[in-house]
Amino acid sequence: MPTNGNSSQIRSNGVEAQPLEAFELYRFFHSGDGETAALRGVSLRLRAGEFVALMGPSGSGKSTLLACLAGLDEPDGGHVEVMGLRLSRRPEAVRAALRARHIGILMQSGNLFEHLTVEAHMRFQMSLSRQSSQRTIDHLLEVMGLGGQRRARPSQLSGGEAARAGLAVALSSNPRVLLADEPTAEVDAATETDILNHLVERCRAGVAVLIATHSMALASYADRLLGIQDGRLTHV
Ligand code: ADP
Ligand code: MG
Repeated sequence: MPTNGNSSQIRSNGVEAQPLEAFELYRFFHSGDGETAALRGVSLRLRAGEFVALMGPSGSGKSTLLACLAGLDEPDGGHVEVMGLRLSRRPEAVRAALRARHIGILMQSGNLFEHLTVEAHMRFQMSLSRQSSQRTIDHLLEVMGLGGQRRARPSQLSGGEAARAGLAVALSSNPRVLLADEPTAEVDAATETDILNHLVERCRAGVAVLIATHSMALASYADRLLGIQDGRLTHV
């Protein structure tokens, strides 16, 4: 579990650790007598303040990669480091603590619990990393255009509102890394612009952002594009 309060960690060799690094990740899925190699040796590094777009066709491995980077799924080979600390193949409690402290995550679905309001989600997310700030909650709700939905439960939100709520929750603990899986897939162009401007602001404040997307608008905001095809990165 991390005990260092600094936002950056210095490795034993004196080199400053990056917010997120992946080393030769492999992930295989077995179904019946078939096997899918969803990741085949993916290595990447996200630097502080960098906005990276991950683009690839459906089934290319984007969601699998994000889940492994977040420590929600375990790679079959290779490992992930967050703020210089190994995330992969550690007990779930350790992975959960590292995730809560350093990583904001927005997956394609299943980001919200049915019984919690939007605001309660944000409060809960903050509490996981021992934070609490009404100002942060109010600011994020406003930026995401969710001021009127703070007491709404997920079933009362549209697809776009749910995506924005998921992002507000992911950002509420002030993570050093944000991983988002197609966050603007269901929002209109104006809302997408609002969300992207906010993410760019976060990047300027030093957050490393990796977003899987099909949106050319989103990709145009990126400092760097990563392509993925059949579980391998193809640098664009
Ligand atoms: P993308 O997000 O780019 O659409 P995914 O990461 O979801 O791609 O999937 C990559 C490949 O792994 C696909 O062939 C998909 O069918 C397979 N896959 C993903 N998750 C599972 C799973 N839980 N069980 C079996 N196969 C899976
Ligand atoms: Mg996907």
